[in-house]
Amino acid sequence: MTPKKTILALSAHTDDAELGMGATLARYAESGHVIYYAAFTQAPSRHGHDPKKELFKAASALGLPKNRVILHNFERRQFNNSRQEILQIMCDLEKQLYPTMVFVPSRSDTHQDHEVISREAFRAFKYYSILGYELPWNTIAFESQAFMSLDRKDVNKKIKAIKAYQSQNEKPYAQPDFIESWARMRGATIGERYAETFEVIRLIMEL
Ligand SMILES: [Zn+2]
Repeated sequence: MTPKKTILALSAHTDDAELGMGATLARYAESGHVIYYAAFTQAPSRHGHDPKKELFKAASALGLPKNRVILHNFERRQFNNSRQEILQIMCDLEKQLYPTMVFVPSRSDTHQDHEVISREAFRAFKYYSILGYELPWNTIAFESQAFMSLDRKDVNKKIKAIKAYQSQNEKPYAQPDFIESWARMRGATIGERYAETFEVIRLIMEL
């Protein structure tokens, strides 16, 4: 039996990790690995929608337990003003979790909040394996170096998780046909039906 990994997924906004690696998270969860998910603020929510409820619904669609989902409340698009506080939260997570792998927005992500999460995570987790997930609408070029092969059911869970964010439902990247085609395209890259891809920021090799 393979030993259980502790996976830490860091999102600037709720929905980032779901979009970039939702199907991979579902696959890890189904394989019994321990997954922590931390978002530093919530995605914009329509009036009348409870963003925390949307996050828990999305997490549950992926098989992530509620007690390992963490939500902070930093001001959107202003993360740059809270870098030290964000770094401290990550350093505390590092001490608590000793994660096997940390997932962050890629280093080529141009969104100002994503950039802060990616850079500060490297400071906090530089002695760990770090992979950057793909959000194609935020990058000019993406270093597509690592792949997770997926089943249709993993992609379906991702689609369900994204649907939980009702306020984002009109975004082109939240459409089920887009999510499926994106996974097909990444799957075709490695000769599989479906996949998600990652930038290798740091890889600590193990025997
Ligand atoms: Zn975001």
